[in-house]
Amino acid sequence: MSLENVIIIGSGPAGLTSAIYSARANLKPLMIEGEESGGQLMTTTEVENFPGFEHGVTGPDLIAVMRKQAERFGTRFITKNVTKVDFSQRPFKVWIRDQEYQAKSIIISTGASAKYLGLPSEKQYLSKGVSACATCDGAFFRNVPVAVIGGGDTAMEEANFLTRFASQVYIIHRKDSFRASKIMADRALKNPKIKVIWDSEIIEVVGDGKKVTSVKLSHLKTKSVSDLSVEGVFVAIGHKPNTDLFKGLLEMNETGYLVTKPHSSYTNIEGVFAAGDVQDHVYRQAITAAGSGCMAAIDAERWLEGQEF
Ligand code: NDP
Repeated sequence: MSLENVIIIGSGPAGLTSAIYSARANLKPLMIEGEESGGQLMTTTEVENFPGFEHGVTGPDLIAVMRKQAERFGTRFITKNVTKVDFSQRPFKVWIRDQEYQAKSIIISTGASAKYLGLPSEKQYLSKGVSACATCDGAFFRNVPVAVIGGGDTAMEEANFLTRFASQVYIIHRKDSFRASKIMADRALKNPKIKVIWDSEIIEVVGDGKKVTSVKLSHLKTKSVSDLSVEGVFVAIGHKPNTDLFKGLLEMNETGYLVTKPHSSYTNIEGVFAAGDVQDHVYRQAITAAGSGCMAAIDAERWLEGQEF
């Protein structure tokens, strides 16, 4: 079995940027990209805020060029899911079912997944009006009404942000009070463009096949059903970091995000680095993920230089 310099787990912008940097540093990275490679950008239509693409780029196209760039410098890819890891001793071990791989260093960039309501109609209209990221997609909803689902800080932040574009923003929340911090909740409640629909849940996203036209709401106390005309549905009910593989092995915060040392990509295990949304619940942007992927590759390269194997 060959001993890899670095295995990168996950293939969104963080992982691919770390692959580009570590490949150019001649580390010959092995990327285990997952069966559904590319991460959250694969479900994003237009990306208008990634520097370098003046006229925007689709999420899948952005991932495709990053992947080609990583490949060009010698990154090798395995399109499978990692099933187990052992970081308790060096070399580190990574398994894809029965197949074992060994590495001197590891970069984890498994990302986070937005939580969705789980409705079939929500899935049908994903990227056709349904989004989990106002920063990414808000600008596509100029002068039309939109809905934001959730009662946490993300929902408040997204609703406020969306008032810049939308004609009207509805916050649909299943309770009669928000769990968001008071300051964020007050800001939303005071915004004249925001209307809160309490004690309600979406039971169906309705559209014309191409885009969303309304949502069907159920009032949880009265059980009455109503239609609300909106063209955008922003699901803001939280994210889940993809860290199940690392439970009990790496330090995580209370919501499961990997903890990295300040201003670095170092985890609590030397030689194991983390980049992108798996360790960032604050910014969650392709560009910040890419930036932290660059940090992880540089950290890994410098750390490897100081080691004897
Ligand atoms: P939270 O878990 O705080 O809130 C999720 C919200 O979604 C809750 O109101 C919850 O309802 C609702 N929800 C969950 N599941 C469903 C469902 N299936 N159907 C309908 N509603 C649902 O997540 P956030 O993403 O808002 O925040 C995560 C963390 O990030 C928090 O610690 C937050 O403070 C922080 N954050 C901070 C920001 C800032 O300070 N600028 C900005 C954004 C986030 P219920 O209340 O009924 O449980």
